[in-house]
Amino acid sequence: MHEIQHLIDGTSVAATSGRTSPVFNPATGEQTGELALASVDDVDAAVTSAKAAFAEWQSVSVARRAKLMFAYRNLVVDNADEIAARLTAEHGKVLSDAGGEVARAIENIEFACGLADQLKGSHSEQASTGVDVYSVRRPLGVVAGITPFNFPAMVPLWMIPNAVACGNTFILKPSEKDPSAPLFIAELFQEAGFPPGVLNVVQGDKVAVDRLLEHPDVKAVSFVGSTPIAHYVYETGTHHGKRVQALGGAKNHMVVLPDADVDLAADSAVSAAYGSAGERCMAISVAVAVGDVADPLVDAIKVRMEKLAIGPGTDAGSEMGPLITEAHRDKVAGYVAAGADAGATVVVDGRDASFDNDGYFLGVTLLDHVTPDMTVYTDEIFGPVLCVVRVDTYQEGVDLIADNPWGNGAAIFTRDGGAARQFQEDADAGMVGINVPIPVPVGYHSFGGWKDSAFGDTTIYGPEGIHFYTRPKVVTSRWPDPAGSAVNLGFPTNQ
Ligand code: NAD
Repeated sequence: MHEIQHLIDGTSVAATSGRTSPVFNPATGEQTGELALASVDDVDAAVTSAKAAFAEWQSVSVARRAKLMFAYRNLVVDNADEIAARLTAEHGKVLSDAGGEVARAIENIEFACGLADQLKGSHSEQASTGVDVYSVRRPLGVVAGITPFNFPAMVPLWMIPNAVACGNTFILKPSEKDPSAPLFIAELFQEAGFPPGVLNVVQGDKVAVDRLLEHPDVKAVSFVGSTPIAHYVYETGTHHGKRVQALGGAKNHMVVLPDADVDLAADSAVSAAYGSAGERCMAISVAVAVGDVADPLVDAIKVRMEKLAIGPGTDAGSEMGPLITEAHRDKVAGYVAAGADAGATVVVDGRDASFDNDGYFLGVTLLDHVTPDMTVYTDEIFGPVLCVVRVDTYQEGVDLIADNPWGNGAAIFTRDGGAARQFQEDADAGMVGINVPIPVPVGYHSFGGWKDSAFGDTTIYGPEGIHFYTRPKVVTSRWPDPAGSAVNLGFPTNQ
């Protein structure tokens, strides 16, 4: 059995708590690893290491930090296939999707390679006679990242490159469900030449999270995961005086107007609803069909669903893999049953699909005539289930989005530029797609939702990430006119 350990102070560290957690291959149902769950002492050891490393790391030149970040970027590029293989082995997503995750992660490292530009301060010369004022951004110290199972490589790399480039040291607490890829990207970080302790990994569960949230030497916490835990992390971390950004769950709507290109909308709905088995915070879970586009849209989606190849992520032909755990697969199937019982029309029933292995597979489901009171609409299902809500007007679609407690992403499909422009203003969500179903911003913008999809006042990665991981220091300096200086600076006294 493969033992998965912590990485503390540059060294692989075995479990001291005696507590472990099994790691499975969701495509086979086999246990492949045994994960060490951190004790309070393990977390404290990581914080001690990170704090000691910070003392020097914060003063390392920007040029040196950038050089190391470039080296890291190259190592991640060189090892992209290995990272993707680890993602597929423990998460289950198909290899092409895993490769896409690594590519998006690399964007964030590349952004951090430009830290020299990002960390430039501002300068006001001669604010008063002989007085200059300038501001710089300083690192915070030891910062922590707590990440979800669904993007085990990308989400940690939304955080680590910017945090470390800014001069902080980092403790990562990955999801206990698929910890091998995040551990591997941390090992590559060491290999790139970053000093020990600049990045530590503690594997674990609530025990580790709670210790990070209360530890006085952890100055900031970035969290990505479900809304209830995001809320808990935000409240607990801020209660302990920390800076916290906590990104939560989602229920993303895609509004399809009657003039939309139905083929484009159907292609987009299928890839955005069922890609990665719907286990994406930017997955489309509700298609809002406006007016008479509903019937052709549902037909076009159904045709495409029938062609979707579901199977192990390692099979080149698979387009969708299994769900993360057996319990989650069964929970998602339960939502399909609840939708049917509540009166939704089951156009395609994922429970009908059969698979000849013990993996956590479920077919894809399309529910039509869903209404906002049904649990399939009110809850984040986080599985391959797409709900169609039929409305008569654009305004009803916009109102649905506004009334929904989540506000991660929202998309519109239309050929009307005016309607699209109006939607970007009306959509009550942090990220908007126009004929784009999953509007994940590129690495040089920032990512984050509104309402129950994010707690805290900065979004993650990109420029807002730099802001989150630094605090301003403003220097006001006065120097006498050289001519009047008590010190002989070598200036002619008559100038
Ligand atoms: P989760 O909330 O169960 O777990 C996230 C992290 O919190 C993990 O590291 C986990 O170990 C820890 N955790 C879990 N329960 C805890 C508890 N009681 N106390 C302290 N820590 C706890 O989320 P998940 O199931 O791993 O990931 C899926 C969720 O993440 C979905 O809701 C999805 O929408 C969301 N997500 C959001 C974004 C975003 O950017 N908004 C991105 C990816 C995933």
